[in-house]
Amino acid sequence: MVGPVNRRDVLHGMSAAVGLSQVASASAQEAKSAGLRVIDFHNHYVAPSFKITAPTRTPEQQAVVNAMGSSSALLESLEISGVSARVVNTPTAFLEDADGHVSPEMIPRINDSLAELAAKNKGKVHALATVDAFSGDAGAREVHRAFQELGLKGLFIESAKGELLLNAPQARPVLTAAASLGMAVFIHPQTDKQMNARFSRTGSLGMRYARGTINSLALISLLEGGVFDELPKLKVVVTTLAMGGIMMAGGFGSGFNIRRDAPDMVRRHVYVDTMGLNAAQVAAAVAMLGADHVLAGTDWPIVVEKSVPQRLKDAMAVAGLSQTDQDMIAHGNVLKLLGIS
Ligand SMILES: [Zn+2]
Repeated sequence: MVGPVNRRDVLHGMSAAVGLSQVASASAQEAKSAGLRVIDFHNHYVAPSFKITAPTRTPEQQAVVNAMGSSSALLESLEISGVSARVVNTPTAFLEDADGHVSPEMIPRINDSLAELAAKNKGKVHALATVDAFSGDAGAREVHRAFQELGLKGLFIESAKGELLLNAPQARPVLTAAASLGMAVFIHPQTDKQMNARFSRTGSLGMRYARGTINSLALISLLEGGVFDELPKLKVVVTTLAMGGIMMAGGFGSGFNIRRDAPDMVRRHVYVDTMGLNAAQVAAAVAMLGADHVLAGTDWPIVVEKSVPQRLKDAMAVAGLSQTDQDMIAHGNVLKLLGIS
């Protein structure tokens, strides 16, 4: 049966990966021995002062929520995974009310909490500012505040809002602000009501595919909506779930200029993470976007990967990447993107 789909599926669609992560079992010591410095770009954190509203149906989902709301779990996870530092964001999807809304006054408080966390844990935790991409000039003002007053050098947004995609006029002020400040924009998958209703009939993989599809569509809306033409300095990061959109855009028509072989003047700055730490996906991402546009990222604590340096190194070795490219993907690109010295 296909019922109404809403924020309640946020965790359901993600939970299958928790089991997958348990396949890896090497100790933290073994992980460190890989000798690869990894800065994980894709992580979630919600300060304890906020109530996570995404319902938890299983012990695994409860564990995700517990970890997401705990700075000590975040710090401990570095030791367990072998990751040197995490770049965290606070997804509004976890804080929505029953109608799917997040009050505008919550956004600055989220960013204050993220800046505080990063300041307390220098070198281990970096943070992206959260904004409602579709909040027009108010959103743009928060982008400037986060950059100038809080020192947050990247931005986190959801892929869509209701019927609106990122080419909507409502999203242009936020994207313009990000491009003008040189802030990279992490576009995160989300549960789209319509797609989820259809795709989730198959199970959790179909549900995840729906989330990847809206992430792909966000990218395509920027390309086809002329947003990159208007904002050529815009840098966006999508997740591995959007690889379908990346491969299609790079393979056909107006998306050609996301590719590594696009001339510098017209190259669109589209980055992708390494969720799943899978050699074939890393190889495809590098072949299409270039090693300078691929970022280590695991989706902690939705996915709790162990031995990340070794597994990422193995995946990159299978993909035939040079040591220079491996270092860029593991940490160099994130440092550059966020202006971290
Ligand atoms: Zn995520």
